[in-house]
Amino acid sequence: MQQFLSYFSENPAALYLAVGVLSLCIGSFLNVVIYRTPRMMEQEWQQECQMLLHPEQPLIDQSKLTLSQPPSTCPKCQSTIRWYQNIPVISWLVLRGKCGACQNPISIRYPLIELLTMACSLVVVAVFGATIQMLFALIFTWVLITLTFIDFDTQLLPDRFTLPLAALGLAINSFAIYTTASSAIWGYVIGFLCLWIVYYLFKLITGKEGMGYGDFKLLAALGAWMGPMLLPLIVLLSSIVGAIVGIILLKMRGENQPFAFGPYIAIAGWIAFLWGDQIMKVYLGG
Ligand SMILES: [Zn+2]
Repeated sequence: MQQFLSYFSENPAALYLAVGVLSLCIGSFLNVVIYRTPRMMEQEWQQECQMLLHPEQPLIDQSKLTLSQPPSTCPKCQSTIRWYQNIPVISWLVLRGKCGACQNPISIRYPLIELLTMACSLVVVAVFGATIQMLFALIFTWVLITLTFIDFDTQLLPDRFTLPLAALGLAINSFAIYTTASSAIWGYVIGFLCLWIVYYLFKLITGKEGMGYGDFKLLAALGAWMGPMLLPLIVLLSSIVGAIVGIILLKMRGENQPFAFGPYIAIAGWIAFLWGDQIMKVYLGG
């Protein structure tokens, strides 16, 4: 590992190229995860309900969806997407954003998520250089991109991502990768509790539920990665961005549309993770 990192610290161009290509492919995989995870969860809920309501016939007969099976198909004509039609960004451009078989338009969101994943990954390289911190920061970034889009689509932050993210943050910080072990634990605890308190006060005052448990778990995970000191910055940044985008969406889509707060926590968390210390220094005038 040390040899691997020292090679790349001597050859920064090779590092940018390697991470650039890898992150485009990861972005392509994240598209699959973002699209399929909510559908997989829905299938699991249906099976669980069936098991409770009709124990004599516990399984609904449907082909089980996983991240790798069945292979990707066009949502309109069901023709299988071949490997050469699945090259990040390039295939979309070559096919001019249409299915190769039926000309059904393919959303521009797919290549945009691939490019976003690459851009964020290269920023991580620029901030951390060829270090162990960079490797884990890439994983952190990819999970946050996945959570942002799933929450944006479905208003869900699945436990299967937030809980392992928190566990990984606690585990690596036991070796003081980004912060000390005790700071990571306090970040986790305070991250969970501060939104939990806001949630209960809001519910007490308005009788409505303003956010979900996923939001607490995500903030707890962010605390586990960077400690409690940056949590106020995350809450502040996410409220500002969330309020601005919320007002715009309200104007565009009318009232009473479900509003996901998770994407703003994730974006603010990513900014705080990369530049939080500098922002705090400027802000506190030190
Ligand atoms: Zn098609």
